[in-house]
Parts: sequence; C-alpha cells; structure tokens
Amino acid sequence: MKIKAKLVLGIGLLFAMVVLLTAIGSIYINKLSADTKNILVANYNTLDYSRQMLIALNDDGFSNASILKFESNLKKQQHNITENGEQQLTDQLAANFSKLKNNPSDTLLLSTIHNNLTDIMLLNMQAIERKSDVAKKTAGNATLWIALVGTFCFLIAFVLLVNLPGNIANPLKELTESIKEIAAQNYSKRVHFEEHNEFGDLANAFNTMAQKLEEYKTSNIEKLMMEKKRIETLINNINDPVIGLDAKKHILFMNDVALKISGLKADATIGKLIQDVAVNNDLIRSLIQDLFHPASETINTKHEPIKIYADNKESYFEKQVIAIKITPTGEQEEKFIGNVILLQNITPFKELDFAKTNFIATVSHELKTPISSIKMSLQLLENAQIGDINEEQKNLLSSIKDDANRLLKITGELLNMSQVESGNIQIAVVSANPKEILQYAINANKASADQKNIKLEVLLPATIPNVLADEEKTAWVLNNLISNAIRYSYDNSTVFIAAKNKNNKIEFSVTDTGQGIAPEYKQKIFDRYFRVPGTKKEGTGLGLSISKEFIDAQGGEIKVESDFGAGSTFTIILNVFAA
Ligand code: ADP
Repeated sequence: MKIKAKLVLGIGLLFAMVVLLTAIGSIYINKLSADTKNILVANYNTLDYSRQMLIALNDDGFSNASILKFESNLKKQQHNITENGEQQLTDQLAANFSKLKNNPSDTLLLSTIHNNLTDIMLLNMQAIERKSDVAKKTAGNATLWIALVGTFCFLIAFVLLVNLPGNIANPLKELTESIKEIAAQNYSKRVHFEEHNEFGDLANAFNTMAQKLEEYKTSNIEKLMMEKKRIETLINNINDPVIGLDAKKHILFMNDVALKISGLKADATIGKLIQDVAVNNDLIRSLIQDLFHPASETINTKHEPIKIYADNKESYFEKQVIAIKITPTGEQEEKFIGNVILLQNITPFKELDFAKTNFIATVSHELKTPISSIKMSLQLLENAQIGDINEEQKNLLSSIKDDANRLLKITGELLNMSQVESGNIQIAVVSANPKEILQYAINANKASADQKNIKLEVLLPATIPNVLADEEKTAWVLNNLISNAIRYSYDNSTVFIAAKNKNNKIEFSVTDTGQGIAPEYKQKIFDRYFRVPGTKKEGTGLGLSISKEFIDAQGGEIKVESDFGAGSTFTIILNVFAA
C-alpha cells in the first residue's frame, strides 16, 4: 500500500473514530436526558400535585382557599396522565372530591380521596422506579458502547502508533545509510524495500543508480587500466631509457632500456627511493646528482652527454631531467608531482661527430703542407733574385698571399678545433714571459693593422712576473683576439694591448673602439661556429671558442666587456708563475 494511502487511511480512521465516539456519546447522553426528563415531567409533577392536594385536604376547616388549591392541582393532574390506570384513579379522585365539596364532613369520603391520592402517588412512584431502571440500562449501554468503540479506537491508534512511524522512518534510515555508502564509493550497496509503495519505487530508483555508478566505476577503472597499460607499453617501446619518479623521489617506472643499461631488475627498483637504489648503482648515482636541488622541481635541466658502457659497447646519452607539474581539478596553482629522467641515446650522433672531427683533422692537416709550400713559393717569387715582376704581378702575388694566409688561418683553426673536439689538446704550461707572448701576437698582426692604418698601442708595466702558461696556445689566443680587434675596428683607429699583474694573476687585455657586441651575444660568441648575426667580415666563428678551450685548459679565464657601439675589451687571466 502506498505511504500516502496508509497515512490517509490511518488518519482517516482516527478521525472516523473520533466522530463515532462523539456520535455514540451524544446519542446516549440524549437518551439519558430524555429518560430523566420523562421521569421529571410525567411522574415527579404528579407526585407534587398529589402532595399539594393532600396538604389542601389536611387544611383545617375545608376553606375555599383549600378547595381552590385542591382543584387547581387536580386540574394539572388531569393534564398529566402518563401511566396505565392513572386516568381511572384521577377520574375517581375528581368524582370523590366533587362529592366531598357537597358533604365536607363525610370522613369516609375524605379517607377514600386520601386513598385515591396515595394510589396515584404509588402508581407514579412505581413508574419512577421503572423509568429509573430504563435510564440505568441506557447508561449501562452507553458505557458499554463507549468502552467498546474506545477500545477499538485505542487498538487501531496503537497499531498505527507502532507501525506507521517505523513504516516511514525505517526505509528513510536505510536509504540514508545507503547514500552514505555510495558517497564513500561503495557502489555495490543496494536497498531492499520490497513494498509496493513510494519507498519501493525509491528503492528501485536507488538500486538502478547504484548499479549504474558501479558500472561506470568499473568501466572507468577498466579504461584507466587500459590507458595505463598503453602508456607503459609505449614507454617500454621507447628506445631511450626513461625513469619516472614521484614527488618524494620513489621510482614509479623504469622502462626496459633503463633497466638494461643500469643492470637493475624491475622488482628491485619500482616503489623504492631512487637515492636508496643509487647507493649500489653508479649509473643511477650519476643520474640523480642534481635531482635533490630545489630547482629540480621547477626547471627542466639538460646536461653534458654521459658515457655508459652497456651491451659490450660504449654509448653516449644526453640526460634530461623534466619536472612534471599538474594543475589539480578545481585548483588554480600548479603542483609538482615528480620528475622524469630521460636519457637520449646520442651515440650515432657522437659517432658521426667523431667521423666529422677526424675528417676535419685529416683534411686540415693535409692542407697545411701544400698551403705552406704555396707561401714559400710566393716568398721566392717576391724575391728579386728569381726575376723581376711588374706592379700588376706584385698586386696579384699580394692577394694570393692574403688568401694563402687566410687559408692557413682557417686550416689552423679547424685543426685546433678537431683537437679540442677529440679531447686531444696537448697543453704544456711553463713559466713564460708575458711580454714575449704579446710581442709574438703583435708581430703576427702588424701587417693587417698597417693595412687599415690601425695603431697598436701596447701598455706594459716596467716589470711583470712570468706567467704560468702554454706559450704557443696563449700566443695563438692573443693573436686571435688582436686579429679580431683589427678586423672589427674602423680604419685609422687604435687597438690597445696590455698585460698587467693583478692579484697574483696576469691579465692580458685587447681593447678596440669598434662596433662592440650587443649584450645578448656576449656569452654566445664563445660558442662554436657562432657569429654575431650581420657580421660582414669573413670568418669561421671558431676563433673565440678555441680560445676559450685553450685558456680553460690552462686553468685560466677569458671574458669580454663590451660597450655596444663603442668597442670591446677581451681579457685573458692566467696564473702568475710562482718560482
Ligand atoms: P670569427 O671572427 O672568425 O667570426 P670568432 O670566434 O673569433 O670568429 O668571433 C665570433 C664572433 O664574435 C665574430 O663573428 C664577431 O661577430 C664577434 N666578435 C669577435 N671579436 C669581436 C670584436 N673585437 N668586436 C666585435 N665583434 C667581435
């Protein structure tokens, strides 16, 4: 039965019972009132009239007033005949009284009238008694009916009281519990009200919802698991090693290549702290070097290639540490959730690079000899002993000499570069005289400075300690700096070349008043093959990078200060030779 119908029925029943009780009560009260009224009107009045008539008879000397009183009460009695036999007795009384009026001294008649009155009173008293019994019976019936209906009402009210609140509250309680379970993601929860009422419908709707949620959850988990597998397979199929870490540096995954090159097993690593794994593994140790720096949570870092010996061969990998950040649902700020360490296998590139370096080294080495012999032949040609040459031929020879010099410079730079790249720089630091090194570099540039009418101004202290340097390489660097200063300066300007002792270091500096270097290129000019965009002069972009390698290899420092548009100062700082 529907809850609504139950409530309507329960409350309706109670209402009907209240009406029934009221009706029964009022019916019996009316009946009782009619019974008592009947006694009062029909019998009590007769008793009263009879009593008045007796009093009138007993008055002394049968006066007119007594007669009138008697007659008035007799009249009332004649109109209040209610009982069987009462009419006859009243008629006898009236007849005897008229006789008595004619013969007032007749005592027998008086006594008969007394008897008549007593009979009438007796008759009415008997009636009163009978009617009182009827009233008593009515009261008894009323009590019985009211008690019966009352008990019935009580039983029904009691049944409703016991059942109705539970009928409504119990399913609600079960439903509330079930909703809590669903909220706690226990989607297998079901409710079991089998009644055919609103709660039954509610239970069906709830169970359908829970079933759908369960289906949704399992299908989502399935989907997620599928996606997880897909990503795992994808990561495993990447040919480069990949290691994933959570925010606390636990290893989340290591693909097969990563396991192979590190010689680790998946079950011995997954879920472990990477620093714990690193204790017994050199490769992992080298991979996590800068992982514990706070910046590893924000910056993606790239590093110098690392050499790894695996699979019976040497391989080169470029390490990249990527900080993984997500914006959680409903939040604004990004949250760091871990790192991914990527090792890119650059062995093929390295091999190509080696091949290129070897090729450059071979070619530049092979070119050096013929270029030198060209230069020698040129010198012979310039020599008048071989024969006179005219002005035009002289000019041609001079331009061939310039080109030969340039070729020699380029092959020299390429050879140096190949040495640097293959790590074959031979550095021999000795005690050297700074003045001599400077002089060598200045002499090598004199001719080109003269060509542009550039003055080379040398600033040297009277005495300067010896420097700890590789003379040849340092002179090569200074030569390159002076050559650059001349090339990137305007005609008729001055290039200042200086050496000084500062804080137990020898500082060589070359200052020009040329176009200068824009701040954004100040560091880049030391990169291999880098030339400031728009540079018109011929060049390879190698000189400064070789210079830096040479100076770094000697434990020195090379730097540039430049006022863009006004000139630059290149400085080399090397250690003083301490005898
Ligand atoms: P190259 O001079 O052969 O191009 P370098 O490595 O010597 O190669 O120099 C790299 C670049 O730095 C040059 O191409 C030039 O743009 C810039 N540069 C070097 N020296 C100076 C200088 N003194 N003044 C202005 N720019 C310079």
